[in-house]
Amino acid sequence: PIILLWINFAFSHKFIDEQQQHHNQLTNSTLYTLCRNSDLYELLDTIVNYEARFNHKFHYDWVFLNDLPFDEEFKLLVSNAVSGTAKFGLISEEMWSIPQTVDFKLMHENMEKALNDPEGVYPYADSKSYRNMCRFESGFFQWHEILLDYDYFWRVEPGVKLHCDINYDIFKYLIDNEIDYGFTISMLEYPKTIPSLFQSFIQSLDDLKMSTLLTSTENYSKFIFNMDNSDYNLCHFWTNFEIGNLNTFRSDEYNLIFKELDKYNGFYYERWGDAPIRTLILSTILKYPKIQRLKNIGYEHAQYLQCPLDLETRVQNRCSCDIDLDITYEYVSCSWFFDEIVEELKQQNKLSNLL
Ligand code: GDP
Ligand code: MN
Repeated sequence: PIILLWINFAFSHKFIDEQQQHHNQLTNSTLYTLCRNSDLYELLDTIVNYEARFNHKFHYDWVFLNDLPFDEEFKLLVSNAVSGTAKFGLISEEMWSIPQTVDFKLMHENMEKALNDPEGVYPYADSKSYRNMCRFESGFFQWHEILLDYDYFWRVEPGVKLHCDINYDIFKYLIDNEIDYGFTISMLEYPKTIPSLFQSFIQSLDDLKMSTLLTSTENYSKFIFNMDNSDYNLCHFWTNFEIGNLNTFRSDEYNLIFKELDKYNGFYYERWGDAPIRTLILSTILKYPKIQRLKNIGYEHAQYLQCPLDLETRVQNRCSCDIDLDITYEYVSCSWFFDEIVEELKQQNKLSNLL
């Protein structure tokens, strides 16, 4: 029995050591989901999928935020499905409410107009909670006290699906390659949700004495700026999948621009999405190659799918998606255009390194 005890002791120590080692190798990152209690069952499906495709190997934490308290049953079922630590946070009213400076009458008039547009209604035209959500995701999530503890995040929404295994630590991949923002799908925004956004963006950059960023050849401004008509080309990273450096979102540059833009109250008078906001700011403050399209990831959020076109990748990562449904080269997609811009930036970088 003493021998058995000793073996037991030695093994358990070895086991703890391995666990410890494994833990030490993890980066300071978390998965992150904003959701409501009513999202529970779609969310559980997504968690089971992300665990099977990625997180069962790494056991990263997963942070859940809500503007209302999560139910006990929600917390129990979700914690049980996540292989890392699940954390649940409440969003303060300060981060999730219509600012005092918003003229309610004007906001309602504009919502009414959008609802009665003979050319058609855009999604969430009269939703106030959607507007609070877009503003929160644009400029506040990174300051939530639970997320303050982390350096990298991976945003996940209830209902989304990974179609391929991710066998490597994707956060470590970002860090090793000094990538601050990774996306999968990108597309064109509904113009009617952002009629004054680009003008406000240009004015904000001007007021902040940052206008040169818009014509810089080192950042991704060509991805958003149509030189021909000096307007926004409507391209944006689809933010339901995004993985990135929280410190970029907490940087002075990001926050100065966000705060300037927020003064226009376009989240409420119009329906500015967090996707175009992020894309405009990140494309101007980040230099090549800090933004990357993650083309080897199979990912779906209704109605669109990115499926790796390369057969070897699909075999290696047990992909379950159909490349005929891949959006990359469709009309609404901006991903092929992003690849073109990156190719230009790459050539330019090579040249300037030679000089
Ligand atoms: P869509 O993808 O633009 O159609 O918008 P979604 O309805 O998927 O919302 C985007 C994200 O915000 C999802 O993760 C939702 O769960 C979350 N969300 C949207 N509205 C609310 C809300 O009022 N409260 C909370 N807590 N989460 C919300
Ligand atoms: Mn969604």
